[in-house]
Amino acid sequence: MADCIFCQIINGDIPSVTIYEDDQVKAFLDISQGTPGHTLLVPKKHVRDIFEYDDQLAQDVFRHVPLIARAIKASNPAIQGLNIVNNNGEVAYQSVFHSHIHFVPRYTDHDDFAMTFKDNSDKYTNADLQQIADNIKAHLED
Ligand code: AMP
Ligand code: ZN
Repeated sequence: MADCIFCQIINGDIPSVTIYEDDQVKAFLDISQGTPGHTLLVPKKHVRDIFEYDDQLAQDVFRHVPLIARAIKASNPAIQGLNIVNNNGEVAYQSVFHSHIHFVPRYTDHDDFAMTFKDNSDKYTNADLQQIADNIKAHLED
């Protein structure tokens, strides 16, 4: 896709700092370096978000996640943990609409990454939870 910044990176039209590359995927440093070592893994095929993955693409991309995760962890003894984040849709903080997975190394609990969600468990009965689950289950596809 001509006007996609990650397609341009994949094609070598704009520079990136590459960590890994094969026929299916490329991993490169996120320019923001939210924390040192912040890396993106992208499929070479242009897909907008997780909703466009088929089984083959999922295998091609997600099978690389542990490889990249382990390499990042091993790269610096100061890394204590790792957040793996995949944003889908503007409301979910996606800003580049070529699917990608963030690897954000964590150094301390007050470094430059945070992820929070409220605990709303007191607002749901078991029946509410079952209804939500049934609705999702009804939409599972093979
Ligand atoms: P998201 O907000 O989940 O869509 O993440 C997009 C990410 O792409 C951001 O963290 C940006 O810092 C990163 N990004 C944008 N342009 C570039 C670029 N040219 N090279 C590397 N990372 C980039
Ligand atoms: Zn693209």
